[in-house]
Amino acid sequence: MDKNELQKLRELPIEGVAERLGLRVVHHKALCPFHADNHPSLSFKVSKNTYRCFVCGASGGPIDLVMKHLNLDFRAACRWLNDGSGLTVQGAWDKPQTSDISPQTSFDASRYSRFFEHPWLLPEAKKFLFEERHLDERVVRWCRLTSWKDRQGVPWLQIPYYDREGRLVGVQNRNLVCGALPRFRFPQGSQCGIYNLPVLNLLRPGEQLFITEGASDCWAMLSAGHKAIAIPSATLLSKKDIELLNSIYSPPSQGGEGGGSLFHMYPDRDAPGERLFLQLKEVLPSLVHHQLPPDCKDFSDYFLKRKISEK
Ligand SMILES: [Zn+2]
Repeated sequence: MDKNELQKLRELPIEGVAERLGLRVVHHKALCPFHADNHPSLSFKVSKNTYRCFVCGASGGPIDLVMKHLNLDFRAACRWLNDGSGLTVQGAWDKPQTSDISPQTSFDASRYSRFFEHPWLLPEAKKFLFEERHLDERVVRWCRLTSWKDRQGVPWLQIPYYDREGRLVGVQNRNLVCGALPRFRFPQGSQCGIYNLPVLNLLRPGEQLFITEGASDCWAMLSAGHKAIAIPSATLLSKKDIELLNSIYSPPSQGGEGGGSLFHMYPDRDAPGERLFLQLKEVLPSLVHHQLPPDCKDFSDYFLKRKISEK
């Protein structure tokens, strides 16, 4: 990463970064995630693009905030800010979750659900989904992907997150302008934990369930004809998510599915990908490792190369 790129990350609006991390910013203040805070003690200085907690003394800029909040090193924090993907979930299982410390801001589902009732794809969205990613139209419909343009005319793909019962619990916006920042935006209170949970209701006994990193790998996996869910790469998987996954798996000794293992994964072909697999394997012991070919960095890449070679 060069100086220019670093500077761009340092200039990302501090309050926007805080919101992306799940903090609720009101009048330039938020509950401090670094100590047990009842009154918002974390303040943001927009002119200097910094934050400071008057109780515990935590302070810094956008990169520091991400490092401290997600427990990432400098490079990983820059990557998170840069693309919001390909992240490790260091210490995800033994650290208290942010939501245990600060009260959850509620997500206003009624405000967003109507967008997904009549999904509408801009030409930019169609190009991204079908021409660039070669995704199956049925998958795009199943996932209720829609799109919109903001006041600056920037096209966004809007990705709904549903719980297992089909209730809208969060929305993820993905910038459709190549290389633009920020790449992702989340409306306040969005709970973008596990993606595509309703698919669990369609699982037949003994059927494989693939776990991917991020929604776009999940679309590729679904388009390849597999059942799949995605776990967030940038945020931490909560205890509740882990419990939910374990609850759908019961070992053959308990009368569960005997036809092989339920959970499968093609980890990204890099160190963070393998680390994520090992961390998941700890909480989902039945997880099976699949290896991508050497020239494919992740499943989307593999799917795309296969699609192109078919033509
Ligand atoms: Zn504090």
